[in-house]
Amino acid sequence: MHRLNDLVKDQNKRRVCKSCGRILPRSLEGDTCQRCQDEEMYRQVKDYILHHSVTEKELSEIFNIPLSKIHQWVNEGFIEYRPGWK
Ligand SMILES: [Zn+2]
Repeated sequence: MHRLNDLVKDQNKRRVCKSCGRILPRSLEGDTCQRCQDEEMYRQVKDYILHHSVTEKELSEIFNIPLSKIHQWVNEGFIEYRPGWK
């Protein structure tokens, strides 16, 4: 009986991404997995650059994301440089 209760408690402790349902590593903070965090961040970034003219450096400071991530998005075609952006 005792063991069974422990098992149930353990199941409840297991955290899953609230967005896609993947099991979250214990080390990860927040309610969503890394991939969903990236996608959410990307949505915010894309929305931001639609309405603001910023450099990639400003972007990385505003959103607290590494420049390498922005470069990755650019390389993958998710975002494009505006004329004169850089
Ligand atoms: Zn997820």
